[in-house]
Amino acid sequence: MSAEFALIERYFAQLGNGYPAVVLGIGDDAAVVQPPDGQELTMSTDTLLAGVHFPHAAPPELLAWRALQVNLSDLAAMGAEPLAFTLALSLPAIDDQWLRPFAAGLAACAKNSGIPLVGGDTTSGSLAITITVLGSVPRGQALTRAGARAGDGIYVDGTLGDGAAALHLLTQGSLQDSPALQQRFYQPEVNLPLGVALRSLAHAAIDVSDGLLADLGHVLSASSVGAELQLTALPVSEASRAAASNLAQSQLWSLTGGDDYRLCFTMPPEHEQQLSEQGYELNRIGTVSTEPGIRLYEGAVEKPLPERTGYEHFGHQ
Ligand code: ADP
Ligand code: MG
Repeated sequence: MSAEFALIERYFAQLGNGYPAVVLGIGDDAAVVQPPDGQELTMSTDTLLAGVHFPHAAPPELLAWRALQVNLSDLAAMGAEPLAFTLALSLPAIDDQWLRPFAAGLAACAKNSGIPLVGGDTTSGSLAITITVLGSVPRGQALTRAGARAGDGIYVDGTLGDGAAALHLLTQGSLQDSPALQQRFYQPEVNLPLGVALRSLAHAAIDVSDGLLADLGHVLSASSVGAELQLTALPVSEASRAAASNLAQSQLWSLTGGDDYRLCFTMPPEHEQQLSEQGYELNRIGTVSTEPGIRLYEGAVEKPLPERTGYEHFGHQ
C-alpha cells in the first residue's frame, strides 16, 4: 500500500461512513453522491494557506474546524443543506503528530453538521488545505446576493468584528489569552438551519468573510440598491471590546474586518418576529434604500465611511 493510501485509510476513510447520500465514497476514481429528489446542487471551495490564512504552528484540530466551517458558511448563505465534501491536502511531510489531531478535528466538525467526506487529494508541498463542499437546495430556492429591495431591513446573525479582533491578537502572539476570540477564529459558528429558514423569508444573503462593508456591498450591487447603516446598531462582542483600544476600533473591525462568517441578509422587517420566535439571533443594522452606495449614520448624523472596506488578497487595483 502506498504511503498516501495508508494515510487516507488511517485518517480519513471513516469520515464518509453511514450517510445514505453517499452511493460510493472514498477509494474509487470519483465519488457517487445522490442529492435528494427535486433538489439542485450547490458547490463551493475555499483554500487555507499556511502563512497567509493561519500561522504555520496553528493547532491542527482547530484548523480542521476552520477549514470546514468557512465552507459550510457559504452553503448557509445559499440556504443549502450539507450533502458531502472533499479534502485536498498539501503537506510538507506525513507527520502523525499533525495528522492525528487534524483528522480528529475534521471528524468532529463533519459530524457536527452531518456532512460526509467523499474524496480528495493528497500531495506533498507547503501546508495548504482546500475543502470543497456540496450542498442541496430545493429547485429554484437558492438564496442569492441579488434580490434585496428598498425597505428591507439588513440583519446579521451575531456579533461582527471578532475575526479582526482575533487577527489583531494573533499578530501580537496573544490569541490564546482570549478563549472567546480563539474560538470565534478557529471554530466560527455556522447557522445552517437559519439559512434554510431564510429561503422563504429573505430577499438576499451573503456570509461575511471579507468584512461587512465589502460583503454587504456585493449584495447591494447585485441587487442594484443601496443602504443606510446605523453605527450604534452594529453588534460588537465584549471580547472584541476587550481586545480593542477603544470603541471606535471595535466599530471599525465590525465594519471592515474579515473572518466573521456571519450571515448578512435583507428581508422585510415583518418577518423579524417569526425568526426571533424560532430562537434565531437577529441584529438589525440598517435599511436597504434605492440610492446606490452605503451611508453610515450615528443617530441622525452621517459619518464618513472607512477608506478600506475589507480584506483584499491582491490589494487595491
Ligand atoms: P486518483 O489517482 O484517482 O486521483 P488518489 O490516489 O489521489 O486517486 O486517491 C485515491 C482515493 O482516495 C480517491 O477516492 C480519493 O478521492 C481519495 N483521497 C485522496 N486524498 C484524500 C484526502 N486527503 N481525503 C479524503 N480522500 C482522499
Ligand atoms: Mg488524486
